[in-house]
Amino acid sequence: MTFKELHLISNIQEALKEEGYENPTPIQEQAIPEVLAGQDLVACAQTGTGKTAAFAIPIINLIHKIVGSKSKVKRIRTLVVTPTRELAIQIAESFDTYGKYTNIKTLVIFGGVNQVPQVDQLKKGIDVLVATPGRLLDLYKQGFIDLNHMHHLVLDEADQMLDMGFINDVKKIIKLTPENRQTLLFSATMPVAIRELADTFLTRPKYVSVAPISSTAELVSQKVYMVDKSDKRKLLYHLIRNDGLKNLLVFTRTKHGADNVVKALKKQGVEAAAIHGDKSQSARQRVLEGFKNQEVSVLVATDIAARGIDIENLPYVINFDLPNIPETYVHRIGRTGRAGNAGLAISFCGKDEKTYWQDIEKLIRMKIKVVADHPFPWKDEVVNPDAKPDLRNKKKTDQKNSNSRKSDNSKKNKKRWY
Ligand code: AMP
Repeated sequence: MTFKELHLISNIQEALKEEGYENPTPIQEQAIPEVLAGQDLVACAQTGTGKTAAFAIPIINLIHKIVGSKSKVKRIRTLVVTPTRELAIQIAESFDTYGKYTNIKTLVIFGGVNQVPQVDQLKKGIDVLVATPGRLLDLYKQGFIDLNHMHHLVLDEADQMLDMGFINDVKKIIKLTPENRQTLLFSATMPVAIRELADTFLTRPKYVSVAPISSTAELVSQKVYMVDKSDKRKLLYHLIRNDGLKNLLVFTRTKHGADNVVKALKKQGVEAAAIHGDKSQSARQRVLEGFKNQEVSVLVATDIAARGIDIENLPYVINFDLPNIPETYVHRIGRTGRAGNAGLAISFCGKDEKTYWQDIEKLIRMKIKVVADHPFPWKDEVVNPDAKPDLRNKKKTDQKNSNSRKSDNSKKNKKRWY
C-alpha cells in the first residue's frame, strides 16, 4: 500500500514525501482508514511501529477539513494524553512535521516547568494539545483549558499510564471531554484494566494490532513446560542449575511476581535482580549494567519495564508467566535470537494459563515442543500430548479456563481486541 491510496490531503502527502516516508507501516495501514472514517479505535502497537503517525496523520487530515487553511478562531480540536514529557514532546513534533503545510497549531504541556509560557500559548489559541495528565488537570482546574470543542481524544501508551498510576486522572480527563468525541486508545499491551477502560469509554471501537516481529524469529528455539504455578520457581532454579542457564531474561506478569522470583533465586544463591516500574531510573540502570556485565545472571522483568531494554546477544528468554496477550509473547521472545545468534525461549504454562498458550500457538501458527520429561509436571493431569487424555480433569480445567475467560469478556463490548 502507498500513502496515495489512503487519500490524504496533498498538504500531508507533501510533508510525508519530505520525511522520506514511502509506504505506511502496518499499524498505519490499519488505523488511518478507521480514524478517517470517524471510528473509535483500540490499537495495540509498540513504540517503533509508526504508531504516532498512525493517529497524527489522520487527525491532521480531519482537523484540516474543519479549520481549512484560513486562520479562524483557534480551539482545541484534539487532545492527546500521554504518560511522559519525552513522549509528549515527540508527539507534538510529529504533529508539527506532518502538519507543516497546514494551518494547524500544536502545543505541548507537561509538569515540572513554569506554567506561564504554556498558559500564554493556550490563550493565543491552538488546535492540538498534547499533554501529560497532571499538568493537563492542573491547567484545566485553573480555567485555562476549554475542551468543549474537542473532536478527537487520543490516549497514548495507555498501559504505561496505568503502570505509572495515572489511570484515575485519565478517567477524570475523559469525563471532561464531549461525549460525541472520537476516541483512539493506543497501548503496547492490553491488560484487563485497559480493556475495561476501552469498554467503558469508547463507542463500538475497531480493534487493530501489530506485532513488530510478525514471525517468531527463526533463530529462536521454543519450548514449553507444563508446570503448576506453585512449582514454577522450583523449575526455574532446576533449569538454571541442571542446564547451566546464564544470562536469562525472565518475564513475570506483575511487579510483585518479579520480586518474588528474585527473592527465591537469591535464596538459592543465584545472582538475580528485578527491573520494574517501582524502581527509580538510576536503580534500573544499575541493574541493567550488572546484567550486561554478567554480574547479575538472571534479570526478572515485567513487560512494561522490559520495553526499551536493549540487550544484545540475549541467549535465553523465560516466560515465567504467560502473557494474556498473545502478541506480547512474540515481543518477548523477539529479544533473543537477534543479530544472527541462536536463542532459546522457554515458557512455563500453568493449568490456569492453558487458553493463553492456545492463543499464542494460534497467533504464531506453530505447535511448540512440550517438554514432558521434567520433575514438576502438572499434578493430576496428563501432560504428554501423546498419552491418553484424562478427560475428567481436562473437562474441569477447561471449564475453569472458560469461566475465567468469560469473566474477562463479560464487559459491555464482547469483542476480543485481538
Ligand atoms: P513511533 O512508533 O511513532 O515511535 O515511530 C517510530 C519511527 O518511525 C519514527 O522515527 C517515525 O518518524 C518513523 N516512521 C513512522 N511512520 C513511518 C513510515 N510510514 N515510513 C518510515 N518511517 C516512519
